[in-house]
Order: sequence, then C-alpha cells, then structure tokens
Amino acid sequence: MNLSAPSAPSTESATAPTRAPVTSAPSASTGRRVVVVGAGVVGLGAAAEAHRRGYRVTVVEQAAGVVGSSVQNFGHVCVTAQAGTARRYALAARERWLSLGAAAGFDVAPVGTHVVARTAAEQRLLGELAAERGSEEVRLLTAAEARAAVPVRPDPVVGGAHLPLDLLVDPRSAAPALARWLEARGVDFRWRTAVRAVAPGRVTTTRGTLEADAVVVAAHHDLDRLLPATAEEAGVRRCRLHMVRVRPTGSRGPLELSTPVLTGWSMARYAALAALPSAAEVAAGLAAADPSGAAWDVNLMATPQGGTLILGDTHLRAADAPVFQDEAGFDLLLRLGRDLFGRDDLTVVERWQGTYATAPEREFLVAEPAPGVHVATVTTGIGMTTGLGLAADVLDRAGVTA
Ligand SMILES: Cc1cc2nc3c(=O)[nH]c(=O)nc-3n(C[C@H](O)[C@H](O)[C@H](O)COP(=O)(O)OP(=O)(O)OC[C@H]3O[C@@H](n4cnc5c(N)ncnc54)[C@H](O)[C@@H]3O)c2cc1C
Repeated sequence: MNLSAPSAPSTESATAPTRAPVTSAPSASTGRRVVVVGAGVVGLGAAAEAHRRGYRVTVVEQAAGVVGSSVQNFGHVCVTAQAGTARRYALAARERWLSLGAAAGFDVAPVGTHVVARTAAEQRLLGELAAERGSEEVRLLTAAEARAAVPVRPDPVVGGAHLPLDLLVDPRSAAPALARWLEARGVDFRWRTAVRAVAPGRVTTTRGTLEADAVVVAAHHDLDRLLPATAEEAGVRRCRLHMVRVRPTGSRGPLELSTPVLTGWSMARYAALAALPSAAEVAAGLAAADPSGAAWDVNLMATPQGGTLILGDTHLRAADAPVFQDEAGFDLLLRLGRDLFGRDDLTVVERWQGTYATAPEREFLVAEPAPGVHVATVTTGIGMTTGLGLAADVLDRAGVTA
C-alpha cells in the first residue's frame, strides 16, 4: 500500500445536466445547501461537518440504512500506522470520532492497539516505528508485557507494542448512530433513493431532483457506476474480504481483548510500517512460513465486539465483487486465528464478505469532475480511520466553510 496525495481536481466532465423537475430547492431564507451522495462514514462525516458549518444538508442513500463498508469493518481507527496524507486525515478524524461519539452517544474507546511481535524481525520493525514516532505514540513491550496485555498463545511471542492514539468503535452501531443523530438535528435523509446523475448545482435521484450549492459524492466503490470516467481514470476497483465473528465455546472460558490486535501480517501492509527498513524481511518471513496466507494477501487482526471477536481478513481485487466466497479463505482465517490465540474452540458466529474501494498507488480519490461536484473516496481499507478527516478536507476544498 503506497501513499499518494489526493489527486488534483479532474477537469473531465461529469454527467450531463438533466432537465428533470426540481422537487426540492434550497430556500434563500435558510441558507446554502450541500447534497451528499452516500450514507457511509465519509458521507456522514461530510454531512456532520457541513451541518456544523451552518449549511442545510441532504444525504441521499440508495439503501434503507447504513449498509456499506462502514458497517462491514473491524471498527479500528488505526491512526498510528498511517503516514503522509492518511496520517493527517487520521489525526483529524480521531478528534471528530471523539467529539461525535460524545455528542451522538455512541462508544468511541480510546484504548489504543496492541501489536504482537512473533519474530525478531517483527520486533525490530516495531522498534523502528518507535524510533520514528517516539514513545508517546509507540510504547514497545517486552515479551512478558505483550503476553500479559493480549491473551495470545505465549510462544512464540517475542514482544510487541501498544499504540495509544488508536481508537475502537463498534462498526455495527457507530455510523448508524451518527446518521440517527444527524437526522434528529435536522439533516434531511433521503433513504432508499438512488442518485442517477450529478451535475453542477443539481442532483438527479430516483425520487426527483435536488438543487445544491455543493455536491459531495461519497458513493465509495459505486463511484464507477455514478461517475465512471472519474473512477476509471483513477483505476477504482473493488476489494472483497473474508470476515468472521467468532466466539470461544470451550471450557477455557471467554477470550477478552481490551484493544484491537494487529500481527506481523498487518505490520507489513500499513504505510508507516511498510516504509521502514525491516518491513520487507517481515513480509518475506511470513510468506515463507505460510504461503497460503500470502496468496490470500491476509491481514491477520482481531477486534473485540461484545464478548466475540471480529477476525479477518483476506483481499481479492476485481472490477466487481461477486458474492461467492471460497471456503478456503474462511479456513485460513480460522486456522491463523486459532493459532494466534492458542484456542481451538473459536467457533464462527457470523461470516460475511466486506467490500471496499481500491485503486493503484493512491489511498484517496479527491476530484472535482464538474464545478461544485466533489468526489471523496477512500481507495484502500482505511476509511474508518481517515474518512471523517477526508470529508472535512473535501468541504474545505469545496468552499463549504463556516
Ligand atoms: C471488511 C472490511 C474491514 C475494514 N476494516 C477497517 C478498519 O478496521 N479500519 C478502517 O479504517 N477501515 C476499515 N475498512 C475500510 C472502511 O470500512 C471503508 O474505507 C469506509 O467504510 C468507506 O466509507 P464510505 O462512506 O466511503 O463507504 P460506504 O460505507 O460503502 O458508503 C457508501 C454509501 O454510498 C451509497 N451509494 C453508492 N452509490 C449511490 C448512489 N448512486 N445513490 C445513493 N447512494 C449511493 C452506498 O449504498 C453506501 O451506503 C474496512 C473495510 C472492509 C470492507
């Protein structure tokens, strides 16, 4: 995963303006209007920020509720492992999660992340991150401290780290709670309404047309259906992931995690770590030890959710995301998860396919394909971490200021 700055605004033309009847126009007496396409964390972040800045806001969502990637994920706000633009967005998003969670009444746990090192190279890599970021952001752990902090199989744990800046939210409830809170505060939600076209000042939906001073397109991977040229230019495709929620069912009792847990498989992929000297050795060592994990491009990690663990994930990239999931991906996750926690009693409660947008050599697609039409897309699996920061930045670029 390489970093790149958000793309420069594109000059390509968006969907041609339509002449459908205007069914909902902004009123001069109540101010300027922002229309947001998509009620995921990015769209809700844009709605919250535009509302805070004094705009009238309408969110148009094709589904009946929040159903996209923003509820399919780990709930891990993984600030520390980001670099460059993603780090800037993540630090801004961290503040927004904390304030929105307090205001809207959903849990945002400032518990940090534990990273477990199971080889000397992994521990060296964590040391390199600590040297770069300092002990405020990366607290190195001895093997004994890591074993005490995380209920993993003690051998071969050689050390670890605690990353205190990171947050944990419940992915099933956080974004829906934010949507409910915004709706109660006057943000206009048009559920079960698909946007068919966007043009300067105008959004055409399956239930009529909206006028807008600014349009934020937060349609995520479905950007390729709404603005195909913009998506194709950036190479946007879909990445689909195997995910499971597991519960220990044996006589050894519960498996309580106090924080999200990352492993060497995670270290090799997040930008801040992947750029460090020992990252290649970590990746090569894992691939040699477990070729099937490398073939599935696995990121072995876990987050706690109400007495269960969310365990993932694998990565398959293509234009579309067929729903058919190879059982081998689930077998792999369970094998790696049971080995990590030394528990052969982890039993699957739920399994699902998550889907997020991916694009080569960029983490964000920020574009203005037509005047006043602003695309905000996270193009890798870090939107819970960065999406609220991206949304605020896109509003700044759109001139939606307080
Ligand atoms: C399995 C999995 C695990 C992940 N884990 C993490 C994690 O732990 N930490 C992290 O930071 N990130 C994680 N991510 C990534 C993160 O979930 C996403 O980057 C983020 O949720 C994207 O938010 P979004 O608002 O852009 O998209 P979405 O949540 O997908 O929302 C987009 C919305 O737009 C709507 N829409 C699309 N087209 C239209 C249209 N034409 N009209 C109306 N509505 C439309 C869709 O219905 C959808 O509701 C994970 C992702 C997955 C899939």
